[in-house]
Amino acid sequence: MDATTVRRWMEAAAASLREQRDYLTQLDAAIGDADHGTNMDRGFTAVLEKLDGLDGSPGRLLVSAGGTLVSTVGGASGPLWGTALRRAGRALGDSEEFDGAELADALEAALEGVVELGAAEEGDKTMVDTLAPALRVLRERVESGADVAEALAAAREAGEEGMRATVPMQASKGRASYLGERSIGHQDPGATSTALILAALERTVAAEA
Ligand code: ADP
Ligand code: MG
Repeated sequence: MDATTVRRWMEAAAASLREQRDYLTQLDAAIGDADHGTNMDRGFTAVLEKLDGLDGSPGRLLVSAGGTLVSTVGGASGPLWGTALRRAGRALGDSEEFDGAELADALEAALEGVVELGAAEEGDKTMVDTLAPALRVLRERVESGADVAEALAAAREAGEEGMRATVPMQASKGRASYLGERSIGHQDPGATSTALILAALERTVAAEA
């Protein structure tokens, strides 16, 4: 995997977030302020524009994408995903290529950044409920010798399971937590967009394999 992988991942993520924008906004209308789809779409559209004129290592592209999200998205998801991509990029450093283990390290750095910033744990009904289990499975599969496309397929599935598990949860972080018990019974928008971004990564890597 290399800089082209990162570029294609961001393109696939942007396309999927655009396609699911109204759905994400509907999810956020139920337990938030109905802007999650617009936020993510605006952010990733800006990321593509930025990456268009940029050369560099996969790490550098991710750092730049993260910075763009922070500066273009007003909602909680901008700083959170922005930090995630920046940290992932920094973890990849300056090397031109990365393997499955390095990808797992990068996503772990991303998760750590999100947790540092937002202090959410699994079970709080946030994007962490998708990212954390996906990362665990990715690491497990990579360490047991699976190729990265296979590992990402399993990780994406674990992330989707985590996403669906947010439905019965009561939110204790972010805007949805203001609803208390009324947040129960709705899927978390950020957990949902995170699953889309991971699925975009899976498809990108599978297409290159
Ligand atoms: P806002 O809540 O500011 O309107 P968005 O609607 O774009 O921002 O994003 C909401 C999503 O952000 C939530 O569904 C949740 O997944 C995620 N989120 C909110 N607060 C946190 C937090 N402290 N830690 C992790 N994720 C969070
Ligand atoms: Mg919102």
